[in-house]
Amino acid sequence: MSTLRFHAIKESLTYKPVNVEEKERRSDLFGKHVFNERTMRQYLTKDAFNGVRDAIQYGKKIDRSIADQVASSMKDWALSKGVTHYTHWFQPLTGATAEKHDAFFETMQDGMAIEKFGGSQLVQQEPDASSFPSGGIRNTFEARGYTAWDPTSPAFIYGTTLCIPTIFVAYTGEALDYKTPLLRALHAVDNAATAICKYFDKNVKKVSSSLGWEQEYFLVDKMLAASRPDISLTGRTLLGHSPAKGQQLDDHYFGSIPNRALSFMRELETECMLLGIPVKTRHNEVAPNQFELAPIYEEANLAVDHNSLLMDMMGRVAARHNFKVLLHEKPFKGINGSGKHNNWSLSTDTGVNLLGPGKTPMSNLQFLTFFINTIKAVHEHEALLRATVASAGNDHRLGANEAPPAIISVFIGEQLTKVLEELEGVTKGKLSPQEKTELKLNVVGKIPDVLLDNTDRNRTSPFAFTGNKFEFRAVGSTANCGNPMTILNTIVAKQLSDFKVEVDKLIDKKGLKKDEAIFNVLREYIKSTRHILFEGNGYGKAWEEEAKKRGLSNNKTTPEALKAKISKETIALFEEMNVMSRVETEARYEIEMEAYIMHIQIESRVLGDIARNHIVPTAVKYQNILIENVRGLKEIFDKKFNSVSKEQLSLIEEISSHIESINANVTKMINERKKANALEDLEKRAMAYCDKVKPIFDDIRYHCDKLELLVDDEIWPLTKYRELLFTR
Ligand code: ADP
Ligand code: MG
Repeated sequence: MSTLRFHAIKESLTYKPVNVEEKERRSDLFGKHVFNERTMRQYLTKDAFNGVRDAIQYGKKIDRSIADQVASSMKDWALSKGVTHYTHWFQPLTGATAEKHDAFFETMQDGMAIEKFGGSQLVQQEPDASSFPSGGIRNTFEARGYTAWDPTSPAFIYGTTLCIPTIFVAYTGEALDYKTPLLRALHAVDNAATAICKYFDKNVKKVSSSLGWEQEYFLVDKMLAASRPDISLTGRTLLGHSPAKGQQLDDHYFGSIPNRALSFMRELETECMLLGIPVKTRHNEVAPNQFELAPIYEEANLAVDHNSLLMDMMGRVAARHNFKVLLHEKPFKGINGSGKHNNWSLSTDTGVNLLGPGKTPMSNLQFLTFFINTIKAVHEHEALLRATVASAGNDHRLGANEAPPAIISVFIGEQLTKVLEELEGVTKGKLSPQEKTELKLNVVGKIPDVLLDNTDRNRTSPFAFTGNKFEFRAVGSTANCGNPMTILNTIVAKQLSDFKVEVDKLIDKKGLKKDEAIFNVLREYIKSTRHILFEGNGYGKAWEEEAKKRGLSNNKTTPEALKAKISKETIALFEEMNVMSRVETEARYEIEMEAYIMHIQIESRVLGDIARNHIVPTAVKYQNILIENVRGLKEIFDKKFNSVSKEQLSLIEEISSHIESINANVTKMINERKKANALEDLEKRAMAYCDKVKPIFDDIRYHCDKLELLVDDEIWPLTKYRELLFTR
């Protein structure tokens, strides 16, 4: 074993897990570091409290005097908890969270100092944001960008800093972050869904979208991870032979959680509790050293913030336990990758989950309305939905027989399939009294309120109905959920507004009763969306062929998939729903394509370096040992030489051929990279990286991994898969 590997492994094995004590009950810790409703009641005047509450509930503007009061109270609360700095906390399109800390501390003329934080600092800041991706927006218009307070997501204390969730926009108002379009999409779906709810209940004033994410991740010993340049620089292994034992025994899934990982989780959960992130579930995943963490679902904007915060926090807490957390979608070849299921639903301010079957025929009709409209939205925009989960990392997962395929389809389960079949037979136009009674009693009335146990059977579907919510399973583990949530809510908003137009037309023009009109429109939707429903095995080759016949898109790579983000239909959709302007939509496309190119470019450079600077020299070193050995054999055995040196000679030859192939392929890859870089056109450049540069990774890897099996373990420089995955 090489010295580096030896020390890394020794360190890892002798590491003593930190004993994380939990002295307080979690329910007592919950939200302690959040400026939440309870804290606001305590710290704010009645006026200020009502101002913030109205902003949260009804999107009302907060006026300046109220902002001043809120800022001053926030500061008092934060100082009482030992906080020294504040920051506007936002989610630029880099995928990470951003913060720039300012001290509360200010000096006065008389040489004294005070802590200051006013309404203007709370409401708006102008960070030097020129290095964040903007897709050309700031260049075209105005250089500056600013952050503005989002009162719907409460301020929180992170370390010794007061963090104020904000949106991040260009001076001209274009969104430069994930949150801004999300808030617009949530507003759109609220308007559209509330209007539909009024068919069923006039008291509904607001509909919120909910999100429950399930975060998968790997934990790898910090020293072992640091010994691998690929993990350090790209978050995944670019080479490494599969270990003799992988995940085939399934002995990790739901197994007992190893001690060190458990200490990490406990500390992470404590931090989550303090920050008001309602984490609930933790367990081992399928792959060795892979885990999952899931909270109770929350309002979507808050849930997105919480997931972003969590991803940042995981890295910090992991470091304290000598771990590196790998959020990458595919850190290890041949081992399951990580995703982030997005459980999604809509609910009313009267407390009704619109995707949960109800107790009466009428509430079930409301459920079916939202259920079928969601299916229709996915049917109309399947390619766009696929595009929202496209990234260099996720390309390794989608369609790789462990994660949903790159084809979007909807799974609804046997019972609901039957219900839809019955509804499909509803008479056109006015319904007879008998038919109405029959529908109420035997179709709509018969939807059991516990669908939960009957639906969640198909794990291969990218978009599955799971009893009282849809589960979007194609989202990658590194994703900012703001992206898929923006699009899902936008397409549903659009669909619901179209639905309302159609229903109202039947009521006004054809004189149909409200429920007749709804049945009529739903029947047509069921007929026209059959192609998106799929109950079979999504991993199979058969489904790919079937999906092709059905005309569903199957975009396997990011550059192909992303095109749907700037199609004519998408631009029109975002404009109509007031979610993004054409400029914003195009800017985002550009940023995501650039990000893809940069990811592949970095991986390519790292792989080239490792192959040439680590693998080839090691192979040469070992070959020299063999050559020395062969010389010795020749000296000793002379005439018998041929019979005793066969193995060594063929090894020497084999090593040479691998070295040669590596060198040739690295050279070829560098040339392809140069050619790609010379392409002016963004799309062509991305396609070149995808089709010309990336495929060479596999060839280089193949020969490196072969060498790993041939070369003496004693001198192999890179920590091996078995050590990364099974050292605990
Ligand atoms: P699993 O998918 O692991 O079997 P569950 O189906 O119970 O587990 O829940 C998975 C996730 O779905 C949890 O994070 C939960 O909070 C979330 N969830 C449950 N109901 C809703 C809802 N109405 N809206 C959004 N997410 C929900
Ligand atoms: Mg789930």
